[in-house]
Amino acid sequence: MMPSMMDVLPNGEETGDFFAVDIGGTNFRVILVSLSEKRGEVARFEMEEFAIPEEYFSCHADRLFDLLADSLVTFAKRYGFSGNRTAPVGFCFSFPVDQTAVDAGTMIKLTKKFDNEGFVGSDPVQMLQRAILRFKAPFKVVALLNDSVGTLAGACYEDPNAKVGVILGTGTNACYVEQVANIATLAKGSTKRQTMVVNTEWGNFTAASLPITEVDREMDETTPNAGEYHFEKMVSGMYMGEVARRIILRLAEEAQLFGPSVPDELRVEWALSTPAMSKIVEDGSWTLSRTAQILAETLHLPPSRCTYSACSTVKAVCLMVSRRSAALVAACLAGLLCHIGRDGSNGAMQETTVAIDGGLFEHFDAYREFLSEYMEQMLGPEVAAKVQLKRIRDASSMGSAYLAAAVTASS
Ligand code: ADP
Ligand code: MG
Repeated sequence: MMPSMMDVLPNGEETGDFFAVDIGGTNFRVILVSLSEKRGEVARFEMEEFAIPEEYFSCHADRLFDLLADSLVTFAKRYGFSGNRTAPVGFCFSFPVDQTAVDAGTMIKLTKKFDNEGFVGSDPVQMLQRAILRFKAPFKVVALLNDSVGTLAGACYEDPNAKVGVILGTGTNACYVEQVANIATLAKGSTKRQTMVVNTEWGNFTAASLPITEVDREMDETTPNAGEYHFEKMVSGMYMGEVARRIILRLAEEAQLFGPSVPDELRVEWALSTPAMSKIVEDGSWTLSRTAQILAETLHLPPSRCTYSACSTVKAVCLMVSRRSAALVAACLAGLLCHIGRDGSNGAMQETTVAIDGGLFEHFDAYREFLSEYMEQMLGPEVAAKVQLKRIRDASSMGSAYLAAAVTASS
């Protein structure tokens, strides 16, 4: 857990034009919001989203920052932003950072698919600012945050009950509002305020009680950040499909799931994506024809080998992997809510909003149901009814712009 240095959160009173750059693990976005005088009103919202091109997962960091700066500058021009005055930018950078100020920090390590040189040990704000200067563009990066903090900020803009932000996308993370007095690692005098957002960096959570399986360990060894981020690898969108594929392969090898021989196609690492896996979970057809179709499309298994019985085993595996993820997230969320006194254990339970963003949560309908089900199990129905799991689209990007606004207003 690390202090995010964010001791202000937007409250809807901010005004002006603000930009954000948001880089996750699959996509990056640039956005512009114009906040009007009317409280909580967004007069204008523009966004462009790009898939991160494959070569940028391994190029030098400078090139990646050039891409971000170029996209921001081109985007701003396209939407008629004149360069007469300097515009504040919120930078949503979803990697572990040792944050030293709202607009400064040191990158600790790379996660997800990234394996670039020039990142670790550098300050992402300075790197983006330098790249922007190369384009001679009038932007100032005023806030550095990760996507969970952005999501919480996005929710706070219109919902004072928002206390926790969660990401369920390519990776996973969570943050929450903490009393400054409880943050032991925060240097004295870092803030005059009473609360600050803490970045749990829960993707890297591990404990003796975390039931990491043999399959998890085997997959871990093939990742750029082997030995770390075990929780993320059991939970998030980048990994779930691959965990399922490995279990299915084991069943083919040890229990002849697809007949006497093992289809070679099953051995291709990362061939089953989480979106494909989620469609299998949601296959409601009597004959599981959709599952057979997905196995044919993604793993190139011939229809003759995808019997009903094989498909139903595959579906059961995908369901288990998805449910495990939702159960682990619910357990950690319940722990966080307990920590901030929002688990109903000390008197009347206050309405609490957990703001959630990310492709896994947004697009996988059954997953949202599993998560609610496990939250109810952990907290009991009465308390769970007061905890709203709020899906906020684009929250991390919007929240980054709002935070740029809040930081500008408070400085
Ligand atoms: P980022 O993490 O880059 O910010 P997103 O929040 O858009 O990106 O999340 C992308 C991730 O969401 C992908 O890695 C993918 O695994 C997951 N995802 C997207 N669509 C689905 C789906 N239909 N079912 C399950 N997971 C999905
Ligand atoms: Mg994201």
